[in-house]
Amino acid sequence: MLDFIRFAFAAACAACGRTLLIGSDDAFCEGCAPSVTRSGRWRCGADGMPIAGAFGYAGAMAAAIVRTKNGGGRVDLRAMQHDLTQLAVHLQAREPQVALVPVPPQRRRLVERGMHLPDLIAAGLAQRGSGRRLVRALDRVDLHAVRREDRSELPQFRVRHAPGRQRDVLLIDDVVTTGQTLGLAADALRQAGWRVRGALCLADARPAVLAELLEAA
Ligand SMILES: [Zn+2]
Repeated sequence: MLDFIRFAFAAACAACGRTLLIGSDDAFCEGCAPSVTRSGRWRCGADGMPIAGAFGYAGAMAAAIVRTKNGGGRVDLRAMQHDLTQLAVHLQAREPQVALVPVPPQRRRLVERGMHLPDLIAAGLAQRGSGRRLVRALDRVDLHAVRREDRSELPQFRVRHAPGRQRDVLLIDDVVTTGQTLGLAADALRQAGWRVRGALCLADARPAVLAELLEAA
């Protein structure tokens, strides 16, 4: 009977998927919880754009994101919705109506994975009445370069949609490592007339942020 109850009402660890004990309010299991750190720290990229991640990219969170990207499981974004929403609300303080624009992956990767974490995060945040809507305004075009000499190491973006009356954008990505990709994505959007208010990521891997998180732990 207990097994049945456990099965019927069990929640799963948001990082590793292991079953949590009944009555547990935590999103993470005992094994994962010690290595999961909440972040929420705002730090500007090279162009002055505010960027924050909900979590530090370390421990069980980093492992879960890597597994998700490789198609071997999925981080439970529902459990992280609260942290992500707080970041979005912070950026919406001045502009309550914003477009959430996921940073697209390289086309080949998207086909391999069949799913795209930034897109799922943006879709989760774009709820009715929130003032946030999902706009897939960017395409990634660096794999379309035909001639070898055109191929650059940097990601290249093309803007699919010009803004309408609402021009404010929050970029959405899974992991911020240097902020360079986000900066290039923001540049492309600005050139098309969008106003980029900031970038919101699931996890922050910037060394300065990780050092702060470790110090605070
Ligand atoms: Zn776990």
